[in-house]
Amino acid sequence: MSRVRNALVIGGGVAGPVTAMALHKAGIEATVYEAYPSTADGVGGSLALAPNGQAALEVVGALDAVRATGLPIPKQVMSFGGREVELPRLSGLPPLLLVQRADLYRALYDVAVETGVRFEHGRRLTAIDGTTVRFADGTTATADVVIGADGVHSTVRGLIDPAAPGPRYTGMLGLESIVDHPVPTGTGTMYFSFGKRAYYLFWRRPDGTTHFGANLPQERPMTLREARTVRATDWLARLAAAYGDDEPGGPLVRHIDPAKLTVTGALHIMPPVPRWHRGHVVLVGDAVHAPSNTSGQGASLAIESAVELARCLRDLPDAASAFAAYERMRRPRVEGIAARAAKVNHMKAPGPVMKAVMPVMMRLLLKTAMRPEKAFGHEQRYRVDWSAPVGGAVSATP
Ligand SMILES: Cc1cc2nc3c(=O)[nH]c(=O)nc-3n(C[C@H](O)[C@H](O)[C@H](O)COP(=O)(O)OP(=O)(O)OC[C@H]3O[C@@H](n4cnc5c(N)ncnc54)[C@H](O)[C@@H]3O)c2cc1C
Repeated sequence: MSRVRNALVIGGGVAGPVTAMALHKAGIEATVYEAYPSTADGVGGSLALAPNGQAALEVVGALDAVRATGLPIPKQVMSFGGREVELPRLSGLPPLLLVQRADLYRALYDVAVETGVRFEHGRRLTAIDGTTVRFADGTTATADVVIGADGVHSTVRGLIDPAAPGPRYTGMLGLESIVDHPVPTGTGTMYFSFGKRAYYLFWRRPDGTTHFGANLPQERPMTLREARTVRATDWLARLAAAYGDDEPGGPLVRHIDPAKLTVTGALHIMPPVPRWHRGHVVLVGDAVHAPSNTSGQGASLAIESAVELARCLRDLPDAASAFAAYERMRRPRVEGIAARAAKVNHMKAPGPVMKAVMPVMMRLLLKTAMRPEKAFGHEQRYRVDWSAPVGGAVSATP
């Protein structure tokens, strides 16, 4: 039984509210402190929740609310060099769930508030002294533990370990748009392609329009603010050059209304973080493990880790033993998934060598994807067992 009674959760994105809800379920009071003044961060864009992430949301009672905002994707088609392959699904699992990031944040916030979690917006953490945190507006807060759920550019990570690595830029920028141009697929099919010079994906929306997303190679890293100062018509010219007359990427890009193009930002990954916790402070979500967006697992892993951290704090006698068990439980899984995704990332922004070996790599990728149980079974079948007590010597889960 834990002696931890209350927690400060820094960050109100995905991991923060889920951690707070899971702590609440474990009998630990939690308040979420979010830097932005309101719920959605305005970054826009969409993400897919994998079956494992959906299952972890169910533990905290948030699955129905999130599902109500999402679009299930039972079918995925991969295209390369004029060839189209439907990827087999893992049997007995629910389909991927596509959600708008802002809708996901909002749904998690609403369910968390309903379950009794308190939020304070406009509180940007700047410093930690023991278990007291300081915010940019000069206010402070104190609790038994501090949980850094403050995303890939985490401040808490650097306060735990000033030598911690920062996020690594993948050399790609995300762009999305709703395009008023129908695609010849049914609703519920996600189509992705390694186009001539850039990876892209799209799916048909229930209203007949098409949701398009691109990972555009961009050598120089740009902040979101900087990328948004570039005119939409300039980005569209870059996209048109990247896709040329690729079918169906080229025609889709030519139909994008510049007013509806959203830059979602530079794509980053987190290299392995040597220190996940120090004293009464611990990291969760992208702050400690952000695999590439290629994995389709960033948010799902963040949700899983949030629930597992709460389980450890529920069952182990103090913060130190809970954080150690949490790290032992989570590190092998999240680093394994990040390593798998990193391999595919090289193919999305290929250098000259990769371009030359791309056809061979593609055949290998197709072969792996055609054996989904072997490739993704351990990722997507993972379930947090909330009712199982966490012992001191936790073994690594699959
Ligand atoms: C283009 C793109 C596509 C993606 N696609 C997918 C996908 O298909 N599937 C998937 O599972 N994942 C995907 N991801 C990854 C997913 O978005 C992240 O893994 C997930 O959002 C991580 O949640 P988090 O709560 O750890 O971080 P975030 O969602 O980034 O939340 C962090 C929060 O902390 C706040 N914050 C930051 N600093 C401070 C501070 N100092 N004080 C207080 N608050 C602070 C931020 O404002 C933010 O609200 C994608 C990511 C990108 C960029």
